[in-house]
Amino acid sequence: MALITKAVRGTGDVLPSASYGWRYIEDTAMSVARDFGYHEIRTPVFEHTELFQRSVGETTDVVQKEMYTFNDKGGRSITLRPEGTAGVARAALEHGLFNQALPIKTSYIVSCYRYEKPQAGRLREFHQFGVEYFGSAEASADAEVIFLASLILKELGITGVSLHINSIGCPECRAEYQKALKAYLESQKDGLCHTCLDRLGRNPMRVLDCKSGECAKIAAGAPVIMDYLCGECRGHFENVKGYLEAVDIKYEIDTKIVRGLDYYTRTVFEFISDELGAQATVCAGGRYDGLTEQLGGPRIPALGFAMGLERIWIILQGKKESLPDPPRCEVYFISNGEQARKRCFAIACRLREGGIYADCDTVGRGFKAQLKYADKIGARHTVFVGDDELKTGRARIRNMETGDEEEVRLDSSLYTVLYNKSIDRQLADMAEMLNEASES
Ligand code: ATP
Ligand code: MG
Repeated sequence: MALITKAVRGTGDVLPSASYGWRYIEDTAMSVARDFGYHEIRTPVFEHTELFQRSVGETTDVVQKEMYTFNDKGGRSITLRPEGTAGVARAALEHGLFNQALPIKTSYIVSCYRYEKPQAGRLREFHQFGVEYFGSAEASADAEVIFLASLILKELGITGVSLHINSIGCPECRAEYQKALKAYLESQKDGLCHTCLDRLGRNPMRVLDCKSGECAKIAAGAPVIMDYLCGECRGHFENVKGYLEAVDIKYEIDTKIVRGLDYYTRTVFEFISDELGAQATVCAGGRYDGLTEQLGGPRIPALGFAMGLERIWIILQGKKESLPDPPRCEVYFISNGEQARKRCFAIACRLREGGIYADCDTVGRGFKAQLKYADKIGARHTVFVGDDELKTGRARIRNMETGDEEEVRLDSSLYTVLYNKSIDRQLADMAEMLNEASES
């Protein structure tokens, strides 16, 4: 049956040839966040459906059209997480994290599920790196989170992204704005798409986010929220800008950024790439001061962002030099004869215990085929072990790139030889990097 060897539409595999790139992206994001005091949190792939209805919001596209919802065998309504924030907020409430010293700063890597039309940069199972910061209403917290996102993108070598920021106010000033927006949209009703006509009644701000060309034209003439912000929200936004300027983060004020999830308040932002076409937002986030209360907990001002890792991956595919090379076998032992095979096996295992990437034949190939294989996997060095080598305990290690050979002993001293070679290489790489840095 063909279905068995075909992944479900909108899902993808990360193959061994690409997984090093993915791990590099994830490790970089995690370690930059760690320097800001963010610690990893892991939550389940599925949650009670009500959690997302309450947090993401009943009127959003995500809840209305995109969730993977099903009843489990116990008759509970379960949903595969469409995003990471709700689960983290739920876990923080459930485990009383807010009773600890605030702020609580968390980071995560999650798979997310949304029933969307698959296309480049848009999948049904996709992955996010995200952070959630709980416990501050201060503008400096907004700036910290934004600075963190921009530093991760910078560390990954992603250029050509611009930061768009907006404020969508608090429930009070937003209500005023929504009234004005609704009146305007009513007057333009004839031009709106079907979905937006529906949005008009339930959640008019969503129209500003519509991808249809006609709606975008109408949105361009709509009243802007910035003109409706209350004094406090305006003050907060001014302070955020001030903090961003203090760390030289360039931004654009973009009143069209409203975010697709209902829990946002005040600051919202997106990092938009000029290299991705339609699916150009690589990172999106904002403040959600009302969420924990909405979920039945205390009011904890909070904010966060999520980065779409598939989109980051697409950008880095076009900048191969930004991705690390996959790890290479440091030494491959080529043996001739059963006794030599066993000796090679034992030495390779010892080296691995010491953290050196070593390999030898476990397939039963002849020595010529072993050599071919070592070449194919790009082993840096080979060591041949036959009867003579077994007798003398000495062998030659061959550098597969230069062809240079040197004599080594088939004992623990081999570890030192290989360790030193890898250190030499690391030092050379570092010197090259420093050189490049000082030239640019
Ligand atoms: P979009 O406007 O592209 O639909 P969104 O507003 O629905 O995005 P968020 O819910 O804010 O997206 O998710 C944060 C990030 O996750 C997005 O900026 C994007 O990089 C990524 N993302 C969202 N949906 C998908 C998807 N279906 N496939 C791949 N990445 C996605
Ligand atoms: Mg979306």
